[in-house]
Amino acid sequence: MQITEVAQDTYLIDPASDSEFSLGEIAYLLADNPPVLIEPGSTTTASRLLSRSRELSINLDKVEYIIPTHIHVDHGGGSGFLAQKLPHTKVVLHPQGAKHMAEPAKLIHNTRLVFGEDFEATFGPILPVPSDQIHVVHDSEVIHLEKRQLKVVFSPGHASHHIAIFDSLTRGIFCGEALGIIPDNLPDFPLPAAVPPFELQLYLETIDRLAHLHPSLLFYSHCGPRSNAQKLIQQVKENTVVFGHIVQKALEAGESDQKIWEHLTDHIKERFPGAELPAQYQLALSGYTSYFLKKQIYHSIPKDEKLDDGVSGTNAPEPN
Ligand SMILES: [Zn+2]
Repeated sequence: MQITEVAQDTYLIDPASDSEFSLGEIAYLLADNPPVLIEPGSTTTASRLLSRSRELSINLDKVEYIIPTHIHVDHGGGSGFLAQKLPHTKVVLHPQGAKHMAEPAKLIHNTRLVFGEDFEATFGPILPVPSDQIHVVHDSEVIHLEKRQLKVVFSPGHASHHIAIFDSLTRGIFCGEALGIIPDNLPDFPLPAAVPPFELQLYLETIDRLAHLHPSLLFYSHCGPRSNAQKLIQQVKENTVVFGHIVQKALEAGESDQKIWEHLTDHIKERFPGAELPAQYQLALSGYTSYFLKKQIYHSIPKDEKLDDGVSGTNAPEPN
C-alpha cells in the first residue's frame, strides 16, 4: 500500500499498489479535524485499507466522514463494510445513492449483471450501510472541517448519484468520474466515462459546472491528482462532444459497434499516432450508443417496456 501526500494535508492511498489485483482504485485521506476518507473503493480494497492503515497508524479509525463520489462498486461498494467496522462514521451520499446503500439488493443485482455472478471474488461483498450512519447530502452542502470546507456538488451524467467535492484548502476537486478517465497511453486526454446509462447532456453540464469552480487541482479516482485542471477540463469537454458526434453520425449511418470503434480509434490516432484506445474502454463507450438509441426510441415504446435505468455499465448499477 502506498501513501503519498499529494497536496496540503491530502494523502493519496493506493491500497492495492502492492497487490496482484488492482483496478486503480485510489482513496484520498484528508488529514483534518475530523479526518475524512474519500473513495473507500470496493470491500476488497476497503478491507486492505483498514488493516494496513492500522499497521501504518494513519488514523483511519478516527475518520468521521466516508465520502464515495458515487455508489458504483469500485468507488462506494466498500462503504457498508467500512461503516460496519467503524460505527462512529457517517457515509456521505447523494439521495439517489443513499437508498441503495441502505438496502443494496438492487446494487448487488446490477453489479452481477455487469461483472458476473462471482463479482464478490474480485470486489468482495456489498454490505449495507446502517441507516443511522448515512448522511444524505443536498447539492452545494458544505461540510466544515477545521482547516477546510468541503463543498458537495451534484455532478450527474456518469451516474445520477454522482457527487464531486470541492476542497477550499487545496482548491482541488475530488471528481470521481465526472471529468473523465485518463488512460496511461493518452496523457492529458481524459476520455468521457460513458457507461450506461450515460447522460451526455448532463455530463456536459456537470463539466461546465465544475469548471466554474476554477479548481487548481483535480483528484481523479482512477488516475490520481493532476495540476493542469483547466486544460484537462477543456479537453474532457471537447472529447465528450467529439465522441458524441462520431457515435451519433455512425448510428445514423447504420454502422456497427466495430465501425464506431474504428472511427474513434482513427480520431485518437490523429492526436496520438500509433496509440490505441484501451480495450476496456469498449464497455465505457457503450453508454453513448445506448444514450442515442434511448433518445431515438424512447417515445415509441410502451411505458412498461422502456429501457431500464437501473442497469449501468462497467461500474455497475444506476439504481433509478
Ligand atoms: Zn462509476
